[in-house]
Amino acid sequence: ALESSMNGLTGRSLAKIVSGDAGFVLEDVPHLTDYIPDLPTYPNPLQDNPAWSAVKQYFVNVDDTVAQKIVVQKGSARGTHFRRAGPRQKVYFEPDEVHACIVTCGGLCPGLNTVIREIVCGLSDMYGVERILGIEGGYRGFYARNTRQLTRKYVNDVHKRGGTILGTSRGGHDTSKIVDSIQDRGINQVYIIGGDGTQKGASVIFEEVRRRGLKVSVVGIPKTIDNDIAVIDKSFGFDSAVEEAQRAINAAHVESESGENGIGVVKLMGRYSGFIAMHATLASRDVDCCLIPESPFYLEGKGGLYEYIEKRIKENGHMVIVLAEGAGQELMAESMRSTEMQDPSGNKLLLDVGMWLSQKIKDHFTKVRKMVITLKYIDPTYMIRAIPSNASDNVYCTLLAHSAIHGGMAGYTGFTVGPVNGRHAYIPFYAVTETQNQVVITDRMWARLLSSTNQPSFQTHQEVTKSMECLNCSTDGSPSKKN
Ligand code: ATP
Ligand code: MG
Repeated sequence: ALESSMNGLTGRSLAKIVSGDAGFVLEDVPHLTDYIPDLPTYPNPLQDNPAWSAVKQYFVNVDDTVAQKIVVQKGSARGTHFRRAGPRQKVYFEPDEVHACIVTCGGLCPGLNTVIREIVCGLSDMYGVERILGIEGGYRGFYARNTRQLTRKYVNDVHKRGGTILGTSRGGHDTSKIVDSIQDRGINQVYIIGGDGTQKGASVIFEEVRRRGLKVSVVGIPKTIDNDIAVIDKSFGFDSAVEEAQRAINAAHVESESGENGIGVVKLMGRYSGFIAMHATLASRDVDCCLIPESPFYLEGKGGLYEYIEKRIKENGHMVIVLAEGAGQELMAESMRSTEMQDPSGNKLLLDVGMWLSQKIKDHFTKVRKMVITLKYIDPTYMIRAIPSNASDNVYCTLLAHSAIHGGMAGYTGFTVGPVNGRHAYIPFYAVTETQNQVVITDRMWARLLSSTNQPSFQTHQEVTKSMECLNCSTDGSPSKKN
């Protein structure tokens, strides 16, 4: 039923398909045959691969979907689904015909090299693809930089290194030059690794490729150390970042214990979403206060941050504060009256909240409260971004790369890969770029954090009730979309 209802449908406008089952919505991904009819298919070479032929039901049924919400109320609609990722029995590219390319864009994140490695090894080991090009230096690399051939041998050890062997950049997304370059080089599978901006750029490339009627699959692999990408359970590099953050928190704790009225302040990544700060705090147990963008705070007066710091110092002699880089931006902008600035990709440049808050705390306690304090501020953000991915992220990156390759070979295009409720799925670009994943502060996970740190919620009862009303709470502690 799904397959037949899809004929001739492409893109955003027709992506929501309701099948015979009431309330069943498939947020479907485009397929090359949507705009190039009658493409020949080929048997998937994996069926002759001895490693895979022993795996029972290795191929994914083309009609399999993954449900976005795992907990549903009795009698409720069956909700949103995505096409399940995995190898198909039929593929739309012959291995000899494939000319793939890989590009990384945006900021660094642990695991980029692992994803690159696994796309190269997966394409070559599983599908026998030989022509894989690395585009250097982000999007502008398509038309203004060098490229390099990526071989199994070349990428063999790269997962042990941080950063990206291809280099990356912001800005420089010139759609027609990029698609010209894809066309001129005869590239027919484009693997694009990057954050929200990158996925928007990938979506524009897909639209142009489709407009020109090219047989080119455009596949996105979501990268965000902050875990702020919507729909998917978790992004790669997040686990590694939370783990590495422990070292900074530990240092802040040691420093704070050793000085008179010691205060350790640690700034972690999280421009709009405080997942790293929240998880790093929950993991550590040494943190007395965690500040994230989703939960506005204030300094002065009853229930404010100064009052809490003083209380903790009197009780315990020292304290540790963890804050996400996007926390307290409005508060700071108010007091600094700064003009807004942007990076080359058009993202708002944030003010350094760590420095600002540290100075405010110092001023308040020394000048107003006439207390001796010893404050140490640690900013490990660039050190964390640059580490290689940890074991669990390495496994996760491998699965992402494999899902991407299987989807590309099966002729799907214009999609991002990622786990939805633990099952890998193909998600149309718009679904991951239209909204952002944020910590829901009326959800269980934030409540767990508050009870672990004992910090004030900085929220009045009225505010809590208001946000509860407009919120579709997830029932477990997993990251869920704020709406
Ligand atoms: P992160 O923010 O996690 O570091 P990102 O992918 O969001 O990663 P950006 O610098 O915002 O990083 O964007 C990466 C690339 O995507 C840039 O080359 C930028 O030009 C391009 N890009 C961003 N937004 C768009 C858009 N709306 N349309 C086309 N291209 C875009
Ligand atoms: Mg971004």
